[in-house]
Amino acid sequence: MHVDLEDAGAPAHFNTRICIVGAGVAGILLASSLAAKGIATHLLEAGGLVFEERSQELFAVEDAGTPHSGATEGRFRTFGGSSTRWGAQMLPYTQDVLHPPAALGLPEWPLELAEIEPYYREIEQFFAASPRPFSDDLLQEFGLSRPFISDEVRLRFSKWAPFTRRNLAGTLGKECLASPLVTVFTHANVLSIELNPNGSAVSSLTVTNYQGRRFQFSAQTYVLGTGTIETSRLLLASTSVCANGVGNCRDQVGRYFHDHIGVPAAEIPASDRSKVVDRFAPFLSGGTLHTPKLEATAALRADQKLLSVMAHFPIEEPENSGAGRVRAVLRGLQRRKFDRDVRQNLMALPAASVEVAQLLWSAKMKNRRALSKGARIALHIDCEQRPDGQSRIRLSAEKDRLDMPKAVVDWRVSDEEHETVRKFAQTIDRLLRDAGIASVAWHPELAEPGSRWLTRATDTYHMMGGARMGTDPSSSVVDSNLCVHGIENLFIASCAVFPTGGSSNPTFTMIALALRLKDRIAAS
Ligand SMILES: Cc1cc2nc3c(=O)[nH]c(=O)nc-3n(C[C@H](O)[C@H](O)[C@H](O)COP(=O)(O)OP(=O)(O)OC[C@H]3O[C@@H](n4cnc5c(N)ncnc54)[C@H](O)[C@@H]3O)c2cc1C
Repeated sequence: MHVDLEDAGAPAHFNTRICIVGAGVAGILLASSLAAKGIATHLLEAGGLVFEERSQELFAVEDAGTPHSGATEGRFRTFGGSSTRWGAQMLPYTQDVLHPPAALGLPEWPLELAEIEPYYREIEQFFAASPRPFSDDLLQEFGLSRPFISDEVRLRFSKWAPFTRRNLAGTLGKECLASPLVTVFTHANVLSIELNPNGSAVSSLTVTNYQGRRFQFSAQTYVLGTGTIETSRLLLASTSVCANGVGNCRDQVGRYFHDHIGVPAAEIPASDRSKVVDRFAPFLSGGTLHTPKLEATAALRADQKLLSVMAHFPIEEPENSGAGRVRAVLRGLQRRKFDRDVRQNLMALPAASVEVAQLLWSAKMKNRRALSKGARIALHIDCEQRPDGQSRIRLSAEKDRLDMPKAVVDWRVSDEEHETVRKFAQTIDRLLRDAGIASVAWHPELAEPGSRWLTRATDTYHMMGGARMGTDPSSSVVDSNLCVHGIENLFIASCAVFPTGGSSNPTFTMIALALRLKDRIAAS
């Protein structure tokens, strides 16, 4: 069902058992999987069914630290959330992320990998991703051997879901709109969370449409699926009972904001291109792209004091190549938008037909992604960040047009991230040379002391933290069941709860946590 809060006839009060805020990746998956168990939900989305500038504008933030590009470019305030644009690249977290080597002094996750692993397969099935392994056993399935054997670096393969499944607005979101068990409310901007007088439970949510009309939503259980930055913003802006905000008696909300640091670290020289392509070009099977990742093992991390870190080989195709054109069209499909750019690329496809035919032939006959002649192969290193309480989301004194305080993003990057990238580059360099695969030309800023390496580093739109999970309420916001400490009916389904980031794309694990929450809610 669908209720547009812009419709004049909408009532002012709504009541249900489960109220989910945010119809992005977490919210839509949670509502649809609860419906599959016969449980009714209200799903509140700030944006419309299609992308609207007036909604997106409300995501504007103030940068107070290292500029964070994802805060403005990497999140989308619309039905489907950031799934309208994401890559849907999935790779499970590993034991050494949840329980890092003790010598590193990183926080542990208050749960075991075995508690989330069963959900990974369920998610792959939903996204129609190939069931082939994430491990380097994948190579055997294609009759290939490992590029090198090492106890310092392990090879795993991420899976990119097919484009047709990436945008949840067009898949499970559509099913939610048609389901009698899910009521999707659009233009439902949640302004604040109201607590009962002693602050132990949520009593309702205050919501506004874009005309300023207010609504109250009440439920037995509330789940925030508002994405990392908005989760902190909403908790901090909800001050009716506690002036510090909801869940923030101990000043933890908004702290430990982190991302993956992505560093374009090197180019693969033309002379080594074919050897690198042979070993590390992505595989394709059943519409899934499998991309190789060289990850630091727990042994290397403990030995060299490294944060989680991995290297990969992005292929940079010219926009006018066959692959570039196909990708632009598929991205348009994902956004469900056939704008001028998509139409131009579609029209140009016949001219690139030889390259497109090569792509198709290579995928079909060799299960391999072909490269155009003009393609460049880069070497990127991505690493997690050490949790830092000063890296945080705060509220600005300035308000948005709906009268909600804007978020201030004070993102910090430390020397430890630089050290991790620098040392891991040395290991990768040695392994590739020793195996006779490549002599890598590293960008010189990486090795320099000081902050010049940051001119190469960016965030990767993998926003995490601000409501971290832990057993101790004095250093975390939610417990291992994602319940906000001290507030019995408020849960958070978001990368906001991640105590550390690992080096894999985070959303796969975030969804696994959301599905685990669904089972707890269904059992309660
Ligand atoms: C270009 C791009 C590529 C990416 N690629 C990958 C990838 O390959 N793999 C990966 O793991 N991650 C990737 N990500 C990150 C991934 O998209 C996010 O981690 C994921 O979308 C987070 O899901 P979410 O449900 O927490 O938030 P979102 O998907 O952002 O959804 C949050 C929803 O909450 C709504 N909302 C927010 N505030 C309110 C409010 N106050 N009231 C009501 N509704 C509200 C928003 O409108 C939105 O619909 C990528 C991101 C981008 C931008």
